[in-house]
Amino acid sequence: MNVLVINAGSSSLKYQLMNPETGDVSAKGLCERIGIDGRLTHKVGDKKVEKDIAMPTHSEAIAATLAILQDAEHGVIKSVEEIDAVGHRVVHGGMEFSDSCLIDDAAIKAIEKCIPLGPLHNPANLMGIEACRSIMPNTPQVAVFDTAFHMTMPAKAYRYAIPTNYYEDDNIRRYGFHGTSHKYVARRAAALTGKTEFKMVNCHLGNGSSMAAIKDGKCMDTTMGLSPLAGVPMGTRSGDIDACVVQFICNKHNISVDECLNMLNKKSGVLGLSNGLSSDFRDLEAGAADGNEACVLALEKFYYEVAKYVGAYAAALNGIDVLTFTAGVGENGVATRQAVCEYLSFMGVKIDAEKNNVRGKKTLISTPDSKVQVWVIPTNEELMIAQDTAEIVNAAK
Ligand code: AMP
Repeated sequence: MNVLVINAGSSSLKYQLMNPETGDVSAKGLCERIGIDGRLTHKVGDKKVEKDIAMPTHSEAIAATLAILQDAEHGVIKSVEEIDAVGHRVVHGGMEFSDSCLIDDAAIKAIEKCIPLGPLHNPANLMGIEACRSIMPNTPQVAVFDTAFHMTMPAKAYRYAIPTNYYEDDNIRRYGFHGTSHKYVARRAAALTGKTEFKMVNCHLGNGSSMAAIKDGKCMDTTMGLSPLAGVPMGTRSGDIDACVVQFICNKHNISVDECLNMLNKKSGVLGLSNGLSSDFRDLEAGAADGNEACVLALEKFYYEVAKYVGAYAAALNGIDVLTFTAGVGENGVATRQAVCEYLSFMGVKIDAEKNNVRGKKTLISTPDSKVQVWVIPTNEELMIAQDTAEIVNAAK
């Protein structure tokens, strides 16, 4: 089966053509500068081709993607008929979606209903969906939501302690994000440990970071909230913050709530703490090694907050069996994993320094006598989207 995985942003569109059973990627690429001029980067194995192609809208980007996939020189398929299904990443499924779903008119309406919750992403995701539906009307399309995995959280985890009407009338609650990654890693952890009933915390640590408390494969709690701003400090996001900070800054600096939120989303996190030096952990580690105290603090704050959440989730789950690290920093950040696990020695977490010296490879890094198995598990959101898509399309046949 060939699944085309589409991740449409406001001016870009990423694609991968893959086999959901084997995970083999036959081609992948990126359409950029949609609505400006248009640029396509297409990769087949190690071969890369770049082309300037006019892309006034997402429709031309999808058309360019399908054309290059069938191209005599750079293509991997002979006809669009060889694409069995399309899987779309959709950021916010609100309370409408607790699972991936086949896209029809009703699903489109429900995704539109979630636009107020995901105002930056959902409209772009919809543009990708609409473009594919019009160009490939006979190919089944599936929506896979970043929020859906978290819909198993109990009310005590997802409700905010504010008056009920904001939940009932406005759907204000914790949703959580990176759900496709958390779901993928939870499944991989089950396969790697041979367990089906177990408690784990997954640390998805990248430029955006979130953590999830997972019991028997189901999400029980997660760090991000109504938006991806909440939780641990991130590359440029503050993470959890007292709402009164917003009021204070807006009043003191005479800026709007939107301007303040922009600062909290784009100029904060480890970038803010390092005095604007970098949001990239490699730069911060280099700065800290050179004695830059702001970099030291940025890293220490990050390690501390990640470890605190593991402790909180271990309490929420009444103990954990498995701790997993994934995404850019989780997969590659040797120092991050070591620092976080040092905090967790009180609960019997022990890692092997040599095994931990690994980047981007599935590895059990805990010692045999550790009370918690600690794994590095590379995430693969595209494969999870392709697998969900295949499952749903096959079930509908
Ligand atoms: P992601 O958002 O998952 O793509 O993760 C991106 C982040 O991973 C970057 O901002 C880097 O800070 C981090 N990263 C990538 N490679 C390394 C590395 N070798 N050591 C530490 N952090 C890394």
